Amino acid sequence: MLVLRRPILFASLAGTLLAACAGPASQGGSAGPASSEVYALRYGTLRNFPVSNLVAGADTTRRMDIALMVWLIKRPDGRNVLVDAGFHRDKFMQRWKPADYLKPSDAVRLAGLRPEDITDVIVSHVHWDHLDGADLFPNARIWLQRDEYTHHVNGAGRPLDRAIDSLDAAMLLALNRAGRVRLVEGDSAEIMPGIRGYTGGKHTFASQFVTVQTANGTIVIASDNMYLYENFTKHAAIAQTLDAASNLRAQARMGQLASSPRLIVPGHDPEVFVRFPAPGKGVAKIQ
Ligand SMILES: [Zn+2]
Repeated sequence: MLVLRRPILFASLAGTLLAACAGPASQGGSAGPASSEVYALRYGTLRNFPVSNLVAGADTTRRMDIALMVWLIKRPDGRNVLVDAGFHRDKFMQRWKPADYLKPSDAVRLAGLRPEDITDVIVSHVHWDHLDGADLFPNARIWLQRDEYTHHVNGAGRPLDRAIDSLDAAMLLALNRAGRVRLVEGDSAEIMPGIRGYTGGKHTFASQFVTVQTANGTIVIASDNMYLYENFTKHAAIAQTLDAASNLRAQARMGQLASSPRLIVPGHDPEVFVRFPAPGKGVAKIQ
C-alpha cells in the first residue's frame, strides 16, 4: 500500500502543479484579450511583382503575384480592430490594376463584419496601400505612430515626405480634425490591452509592427516591415527601407516577441493563405 501511495501522491502533486501553471493562460483565454482572434483578409493581388523590390539582394528576374491584405483582430470585448486599411481611391486602382480586388470595406464582410463594425484601425505606415482605406470605416478610431504622422503631414494636410500620397495626407488631416486619430507614443506602446505597437522596422520614418496576445500565444503582424517569409528565413532586409540594419534588428525582434516564428505574419506574402488555409476563401485564421 505504501509503495503504491507514493506514486499516487506524486501524480496528484504533479497534477496540481500543472493546473497552477496552466491557470493564468486559461484565465486569459476565457476572459481577457488573450482570446483575441487574428485573421488575414485578402482584398486583392498585384501580379508579377519583382521580388527584388521586396527582398534586398534577390535575383532581379524573379517575379511573383503578391497578396494585398488587411489583418483583423476580433476581440472578446467586442472591439474589431483592423491593422491597415488597404486602398480604394481611383488613382491607385488605375495605376496598379489589382486583380481579384475587393474594397477593404467588403473584405471585412468575408469575416462576417460590416464596415461600421470596425472600431479601430491601426495603421502600420502611411503608404497608399495600407492607409488609403482608413476612411471606409465610419466608426473607427485611426491609430498611427505620432512620429509617422508629424513626419508626413503638415497642418494644412499636405505631404512633407514622398512616402505619403497627397490624397491620403489630406484624408489623415480630415480624420484628425474629426477627432478620430489617436497617436501612438513610440516603441512598445500599448494601444489597447493585449495589443502593442513597435517601431524600428524603418520601412517608413516611423513604421510600426503590432503584437497581439491570443490563446495561441503572441502573434506579430509585421506588415511591410517584413514583406515575405523569405525576408525572415534568409535574414534579408526588406528592399524598401530607410535603414537596412535597423530593419534586420526589427525582424530579429519579431522573432523574439512571437511565440513561434510561424506566428509572424508578413505584409504581402500569399503563402499566408497556404500556411493557414482555414476558414478559406480569402480568410486565414492565424493560429
Ligand atoms: Zn509599404
